[in-house]
Amino acid sequence: MILMNDFTRVSEDLRERERRACARVLASGWSILGKEVEAFETEWARTTGVRHVVGVANGLDALEISIRALGLGAGDEIITTPMTAFATVLAILRAGAIPVLADIEPGTANIDLESAERCRSQRTRAILPVHLYGRALPLDRWSSWCREHGLHLIEDCAQAHLAGWQDRSVGSWGAISGWSFYPTKNLGACGDAGAIATNDDALAELCRRLRNYGQSERYYHPELGMNSRLDELQAALLSERLRELPKWTMRRCEIASAYRCGIDNPRVGLLDNASAGTHVYHLFVITCTERDRLAEYLRARGVQTLIHYPVPVHRQKPTSALRRDPKGLSICERHAATCLSLPCSPHLSDDEVATIVASVNAFR
Ligand SMILES: *Cc1c(COP(=O)(O)O)cnc(C)c1O
Repeated sequence: MILMNDFTRVSEDLRERERRACARVLASGWSILGKEVEAFETEWARTTGVRHVVGVANGLDALEISIRALGLGAGDEIITTPMTAFATVLAILRAGAIPVLADIEPGTANIDLESAERCRSQRTRAILPVHLYGRALPLDRWSSWCREHGLHLIEDCAQAHLAGWQDRSVGSWGAISGWSFYPTKNLGACGDAGAIATNDDALAELCRRLRNYGQSERYYHPELGMNSRLDELQAALLSERLRELPKWTMRRCEIASAYRCGIDNPRVGLLDNASAGTHVYHLFVITCTERDRLAEYLRARGVQTLIHYPVPVHRQKPTSALRRDPKGLSICERHAATCLSLPCSPHLSDDEVATIVASVNAFR
């Protein structure tokens, strides 16, 4: 079976560096929020071109803390997309704010600016867009729209490590951004991990408190925070894996272009092409009106696929009544019914990619 992710396929060189990193942490006798976390925070800040990075326990917390740090909560509306991991919307709800759902663009499955404009109200305070599948949003347009209406831009970068728009990394355009290092992400830990990035000194300081019980100095709690601390083992592993990330990202893009050149089945649709650097192919998503039959066909030929996402946020039980674009979410509905993710991990061989292309093309 060709898997979406096969975590056993790691170069022996990286494995050895990972073993040494773990040994280093064990020998240090320090487990949580220490030198390894600080070193990774510095590296991730340098990589994304942002002044401050705050390591946290996971991507959900990164977004919740970001929202709370901006002072958003009860009564504040935040516009986001229904075509995302549930965590995006859950973070807004956990912060006590109100998600409002905009429709997506058919060619990218990313949140649509015109639909977001229709969702805007007197109570809108922020927008939380997702760089879905690894494709950077047109951040110049989103930034100026936010400036025009006095809205905070909070970027969900959980799928877009190393993606950029114009000459700047995603996550550096908005007031603040949330990152996930869940194992399947383009940069993944060996467990849960996440980070917040911001250029604002005061926001960064507040996030540092909120991740640790709202504590400013030992035993003083000016805020009601949470426990969302990043541990030394995850940080040490992330620092080692970060050195591989540019190479892995190039390989993902290479696989994506092999799919783009090779897939010519008229029953299968591709999303819009994107220029290098603006798409890091966390997922390679195709569309097909007979999606379930195609998935079964590929499975029978030894190709695993997944669906991102079959049940959009407004179809989930606790979020079915959220306010949304008055024109509806029909593009999102259609995408949820037709999208299919092919394996796109950097560890796939050229032969495996060729097998996947041939299998997709053979579907009748
Ligand atoms: C993975 C993901 C998250 C949540 O990250 P966790 O680390 O799993 O909490 C949030 N948003 C998006 C778009 C994601 O893909």
